[in-house]
Amino acid sequence: MPFERPEIIRPPSERHSYYLPLTSGCSNNTCTFCNYYGCRLGLREVEEVKAEIDALALFLKQGFVLPHMPMVMYLIAQNWDQHRLFLQDGDALVYPFPKLVGVLEYLNEKLPQLEIVGTYATPRDVLRRSVAELKILKERKLEIIYMGVESGDEDTLRDIGKRVNYQEMVTAGKKVKEAGITLSVTVILGLGSVKNSRKHALATAQILSEIDPDYAGALTLTLVPGTPLYEQAKKGEFELISPLESLEELKILVENAHFTNCFFSSMHASNYLSVRGRLPQDKKKMINELVRVLADGDVSMLRPEFLRGL
Ligand code: SF4
Repeated sequence: MPFERPEIIRPPSERHSYYLPLTSGCSNNTCTFCNYYGCRLGLREVEEVKAEIDALALFLKQGFVLPHMPMVMYLIAQNWDQHRLFLQDGDALVYPFPKLVGVLEYLNEKLPQLEIVGTYATPRDVLRRSVAELKILKERKLEIIYMGVESGDEDTLRDIGKRVNYQEMVTAGKKVKEAGITLSVTVILGLGSVKNSRKHALATAQILSEIDPDYAGALTLTLVPGTPLYEQAKKGEFELISPLESLEELKILVENAHFTNCFFSSMHASNYLSVRGRLPQDKKKMINELVRVLADGDVSMLRPEFLRGL
């Protein structure tokens, strides 16, 4: 089957990157809340990837647009600062290792100005690689891995079909750091439902502390039509937390997570309130802000539903 270029889904910090697809979909398509649920993993031929890199290099050097190449690549390239590149899609680290090394080497050869390559990775993708292999990728400019942790609560992880447990995620996170690659993780407020809200938040603070990532982002659960969790919620089997309850969870995270040096934020568009800071030094300031908003209880000060994004 011909490879279908995926839509651009990327971390907020990759907004200035060039988006180079190696895969489409996600190899772990079982997470019940995710819009990748049930998708097929597509692998792009290396020759096709290299052809895009060649076309990109030609465009940057001489402004040539090749008519047979997808127009979207030129739209991205025309405003690109040439420093960062993001490998698509949901977990490009699943791309076969020798081919991934080959693509990175080709990028370095054709685009020597490139400084940082980033990718999403599932914990399973990371566990499949040794630290030595991750170091090989780092030497070829794979500088940042974004890994979805979602929760530290084993019951929640099982219920959402994450297919990895607490300890496996800690091991995966530590491997990335040991390889010298920057680690950015995300967790999801509300994933434990109302019933397990506190348990989910406390366990998530604990797993964040153990992984001790460089960046941690909190998202707030948004139900996506067509996913199993959406159906469960419709049947009353899963209860969404309220906006203020999401702030309670956020406060539990900031209070209980202990980091060496982590930039923590809830800047993602799914959240009702954006807080950010470097932990541990900004902990007091961030907690005070959350306490103040929670004490006010004024939901009109929070991001309205229609402005929330996935
Ligand atoms: S591993 Fe991540 S991208 Fe893949 S289905 Fe689960 S949440 Fe979605």
